[in-house]
Amino acid sequence: MAPSITLDTGGTLTQLPPLSLYVHLPWCLKKCPYCDFNSHEWRAGGASSAPAPARVPAGGPAVAIREAGATMLAVGVAGPDPQTEADYIDALQADLEAALPLIWGRSVQTVFIGGGTPSLFSPAAIDRLLAMVRTHLRLAPGAEVTMEANPGTFERERFRAYAEAGVNRLSIGVQSFDDRMLMALGRVHDGDQARRAIETAAQCYPTFNIDLMYALPGQDLAALDAEIATALAFAPPHVSWYHLTIEPNTRFARFPPVQPDDDMSADMQQRIETALSAAGLAHYEVSAYARAGHRAQHNLNYWEFGDYLGIGAGAHSKLSFHDRIIRQARYRHPRRYVEAARSGQAVEDERRLTRADLPFEFMLNALRLVEGVPVGLLAERTGSSVATIGRTLQAAVDKGLLDPDPAVIRATPLGARFLNDLQAMFLPT
Ligand code: SF4
Repeated sequence: MAPSITLDTGGTLTQLPPLSLYVHLPWCLKKCPYCDFNSHEWRAGGASSAPAPARVPAGGPAVAIREAGATMLAVGVAGPDPQTEADYIDALQADLEAALPLIWGRSVQTVFIGGGTPSLFSPAAIDRLLAMVRTHLRLAPGAEVTMEANPGTFERERFRAYAEAGVNRLSIGVQSFDDRMLMALGRVHDGDQARRAIETAAQCYPTFNIDLMYALPGQDLAALDAEIATALAFAPPHVSWYHLTIEPNTRFARFPPVQPDDDMSADMQQRIETALSAAGLAHYEVSAYARAGHRAQHNLNYWEFGDYLGIGAGAHSKLSFHDRIIRQARYRHPRRYVEAARSGQAVEDERRLTRADLPFEFMLNALRLVEGVPVGLLAERTGSSVATIGRTLQAAVDKGLLDPDPAVIRATPLGARFLNDLQAMFLPT
């Protein structure tokens, strides 16, 4: 149990929140046209692609926590060479060592290795990375250790070896089983590779996630039904099913594909929800569905405004202390990051959250959860009393966007449909 602490926002934190670790591995074989993650095309020799997009979702909570994926190879996996892997893991170690004083004495509940395409890294490199993490941090017993993997990097032995290195949850970036859709998304894996990757994950891991997208170019309800049937045939313990959104600074933003309209997209979302729930996958977050006991603990910690240390290029952190809550961002470009981390200076930007920021930051995450959160969690995680947003809460209830139950903060179905508007009500004035 962490000690009682006081926050200078005027409130009192009774305990520090749970702490997670996010590790960003930034390379992909090819940049997907919809992707605004901090991912860089791998080129032999360590060169990376031209400028990364503006928004960095690496490990931040305001981030679509998309369990990303990419890229394929027919034979072998031509990821970073051993020297580049070694240099990057050295940098991660230096980054972690410099950050240790910020999390002294705390145990880590979950680890998430995201990207980019982490499965471009060799099993030996992931083994070294996890050994380094275990040496430097106290992992909670049974800690969830997730790694993102892509069907395009699928090799049975490779996927097995990640499990032997200590990964106990694989998140597979499938996106679609339909080869035409995969081509429209610029993905280089095909449906067969996706199916084989899932079969192997089911054999080698105690739990796994599959990432899918809907509202794809040219997709109709029949095509979606086929995707749902294929996905459910694997009885996945967890599914993340995202609406394809067009983000600024992506190729799709410059050359937008024709997508189903809003009404059709809403029908698709409803269809996914109904079918997955009938199959025992409860809808528990905007895009996430899980069987009992298989919710993504790492992502839940983001949504419940827990703490996380993010290491790696462009990774974000949110950390609580006795007198403040801070956010950090690391240098985005892999080469710049490696240089900076080596000298103990991986953090490019750090800011302290103000009292005015905290309720919005909390609500931005908590409102994504279908069951909402206990009202007391706001004070526990931010140090701010619920009274500070009492008027806004009441206004949202009056509009039918929030549940009137005073014990929980939970969006109504209407609030979930207009989630951006509901979240925006809590913006600092
Ligand atoms: S594989 Fe994932 S991280 Fe890489 S470019 Fe595609 S969507 Fe982005």
